[in-house]
Amino acid sequence: MRLWMLGSGSKGNAVLVESGDTRVLVDAGFSARRLAERLTAIGIAPASVQALLLTHEHSDHVSAVQRAVKRWKWPVHATEGTLRGAGELLEGASTHVIARGVPFTVGDLRIEPFGTSHDAADPVGFVATSVCSGARTAVVTDLGCVTDEVRTAVQRVDVLVLESNHDEGLLESGPYPWHLKRRVGGKHGHLSNRAAGELSMHCLHKGLKQIVLAHLSETNNSPAVAHESMQRVLRRTRYKGELAVAPQHGVVGPFGDGGGPGGQLTLF
Ligand SMILES: [Zn+2]
Ligand SMILES: [Zn+2]
Repeated sequence: MRLWMLGSGSKGNAVLVESGDTRVLVDAGFSARRLAERLTAIGIAPASVQALLLTHEHSDHVSAVQRAVKRWKWPVHATEGTLRGAGELLEGASTHVIARGVPFTVGDLRIEPFGTSHDAADPVGFVATSVCSGARTAVVTDLGCVTDEVRTAVQRVDVLVLESNHDEGLLESGPYPWHLKRRVGGKHGHLSNRAAGELSMHCLHKGLKQIVLAHLSETNNSPAVAHESMQRVLRRTRYKGELAVAPQHGVVGPFGDGGGPGGQLTLF
């Protein structure tokens, strides 16, 4: 199983997961043109993607959906709340209702959606397991806090894509208005570097090969700050895997089988 981050953050998100001939995209938060550009950059024809999985209906996760489903006929898998929230963007799309805790299969991938704590209708994260190889990947972004449901879902993964949105000190002292600081730092907002470190501790096992920090704030964080914060946690453990940071304006990967250390980076 291999995974590419096609861009990550509040200006747009998409993750391509591939296992054998099966390709699924988690979120489509760019323009369809940009999404096509980025898929092409990693040698993937957009029409070869078998399914689009949506975590939630916020625009940084769905902005390409309307054009993409028309152009490439991607079937959309999302919770009832997300489908409702995405509304007319999904007009004409073939949709599949998914639910927290109920696994489904796309080609070689068994996908388990789990609930996240975020200010959307019915947000989820995903764990994808290759039926052939047993390799497991978790994508966990857009969550204000780590619940038991999340902690349980992301055990024994090989690749962990984890939100590391903000440094708590930078958010507090930064330029955001009070209400936005409260939203981002709240239980239904975004995960801090500190909370990401705590969750990663729960995920450590000898099969964990790669942690990818995702959905970094461009205002209240930086790749160096997030990386250092996670390194501080990992240094105290026996973690032998890699640590990478997903950029907002670039593609990084592949992670997983055949991925080099940290993956290749292409900036747009
Ligand atoms: Zn987001
Ligand atoms: Zn969101």
